Amino acid sequence: MKYYVPRFELGVLSNSQRLMEDKFGGLPWGIPARFWPICRSCGKSMSLIVQLNHHDERLNLGRKGRCLFVFMCSNPDSYCEPTWNSSEGCNSSFVVEPEALENNLSFPPDVAEPETAQIRNCENCAYDQSWVADRTIWIQTEVRISKWIQMHDEIPKSDRSNFTDETKYSETSEELLKSIYSGTKLGSVPSWIQSPEYSDWTFVAQFDDYFGFHTPLPEPDDIGCPVGQGDRYNYQRFLPKTQRLDSPREVTQNENRSTNDDPRWFCEGPNFGDAGSGYLFIKFDGELLPKSEFIWQCH
Ligand SMILES: [Zn+2]
Repeated sequence: MKYYVPRFELGVLSNSQRLMEDKFGGLPWGIPARFWPICRSCGKSMSLIVQLNHHDERLNLGRKGRCLFVFMCSNPDSYCEPTWNSSEGCNSSFVVEPEALENNLSFPPDVAEPETAQIRNCENCAYDQSWVADRTIWIQTEVRISKWIQMHDEIPKSDRSNFTDETKYSETSEELLKSIYSGTKLGSVPSWIQSPEYSDWTFVAQFDDYFGFHTPLPEPDDIGCPVGQGDRYNYQRFLPKTQRLDSPREVTQNENRSTNDDPRWFCEGPNFGDAGSGYLFIKFDGELLPKSEFIWQCH
């Protein structure tokens, strides 16, 4: 089956956003405040995990211009734990019609004077412990997508449903399961860490809990966070003059790079537990907007 893998650009190294585009983290684009999901556990606005636009091949949302949003609670004042499924109310995913979208970056509804509030990566909550809850916008690391690359795997389209059905999945050969791409992708079938779920839904995307970049390793002062080089026996951390609070906590050079297809450096992505993966599903319900569900699994 066809699937699509992204080439990433770190948000703090990119031009400021001017248009709707597929992206991870940062402030969402175009979502009206009334649609911004609030965490059922702590009552704080959630943070954007990803927003993905309808695309006839990559992500069929049934209509051009529709956008699928995934949010998750990232509030360091509460550390809401059950973000792994939507029934607990600590994550939320939904599709918005183009007519309802705005043409600007969006700010959460529960932050006073959002234009002047501090935008802070939730990874940087330990950097210094002082923040004012209603003057702080917690974001996940912003990562933009410079292009999607079309790939193919060995999974026949006719076997698609085998990969969300627990019985059929258990009868699938180890070799075929190992051949499934487990990184961030749109399309094909999920590479499960635990057992299959959502048998009556359509799998549309999987998300890794880190980002790999093919751009040159940035300088600490360009990125505003420490840059690590070396292996675990000889790891050196080069510090910026000033830490940017909207940057990742740290980025790390890929010491094991062997081909041009391998990323040059990494940063952490959303917290999906211990080396976890996020899984996104949709379901069409008549003429209405497709429904969506997001879960994560970890080791
Ligand atoms: Zn919460």
